[in-house]
Amino acid sequence: MKLSLVVPCYNEEGNIFRFADAVENTFKDKVKDYEIIFINDGSKDKTYTELKCLVNDSKQNIKVINFSRNFGKESGMYAGLKEAKGEYVTIIDADLQQDPKYVLEMISILDENENYDSVVAYQKQRKESKVLGFFKNSFYKIINRMCSIEFVQGASDFRTFRRYMVDSILEMKEYYRFSKGIFSWVGFNNYYMPYDVHERSAGVTKWSFYKLFKYAIEGIVSFTTVPLRLATIFGLIVSLLSMLYLIIVIIQKIFFLIEVPGYATIVTLILLLGGIQLLCIGIIGEYLARTYVETKNRPIYIAKEVLESKKGKNDK
Ligand code: UDP
Ligand code: MG
Repeated sequence: MKLSLVVPCYNEEGNIFRFADAVENTFKDKVKDYEIIFINDGSKDKTYTELKCLVNDSKQNIKVINFSRNFGKESGMYAGLKEAKGEYVTIIDADLQQDPKYVLEMISILDENENYDSVVAYQKQRKESKVLGFFKNSFYKIINRMCSIEFVQGASDFRTFRRYMVDSILEMKEYYRFSKGIFSWVGFNNYYMPYDVHERSAGVTKWSFYKLFKYAIEGIVSFTTVPLRLATIFGLIVSLLSMLYLIIVIIQKIFFLIEVPGYATIVTLILLLGGIQLLCIGIIGEYLARTYVETKNRPIYIAKEVLESKKGKNDK
């Protein structure tokens, strides 16, 4: 099989048929042998009913993995990559913000350049507020300074991989999946392709500012332990400064007989040190919590059932 499309879906009832039609029209005569793998990530609307209809009606090779609950897009992508049989595998959203015509472009780049292992689509023009843009810029600056691997700003999950890169990604079985980090961590040679993002075809985005913030913390904690070292350095600096202050106080008292006023200094220092300690414990806690969950070795997703269209079954 030439190509697998991996499509994570959460509450995308209005987009399922539109997406399948768009792919059929775009790929007609151009890509012969392809499959579409939809992952229904515990949708609360009629996404699953729509997917079932699509599997029964469609002449395309379609597979549906139905999760037992919402596991998140990261788990959806993992499940799709695992199921994909194609020589090339593309991750694409269901909401048609990412036009399937770009997949053709990605395929031809890989066909023509053997030295590229994946094509990563990045947004030419970012359609977001200035405030969000500022936070995203800061996040990329911080994470790139802390991590040895590179995070490219604007690079999306809309990517096409060669088979062996997919296999390497699947080798990373961690429960907390920060895919952008995983894709960089496995290495290989990526081609960055600019693309224009369309408006969402139907439904609403699942990202809120809080979710993005949590995702950013996830990225940092998953791919670097620098914050832990910062806590150590912070502790060292504060200890050194307090030693210095102690020496100054002793000298003032013994040699200059100066009365040292204590109350305000003590209160400020107690609060300051308490805050720093709590912050450092919090940082350690973030890592410890993840270690705890990872040791449980829980599955990344649970599939209730897997459906396959007639063409998919016949092709076997
Ligand atoms: N998605 C998912 N599980 C989730 C949230 C999102 O599978 O818990 C899917 C969603 O259906 C869409 C893709 O991930 O196909 C991207 O989500 P969204 O469009 O909300 O993100 P945005 O494009 O706004 O960044
Ligand atoms: Mg979207």
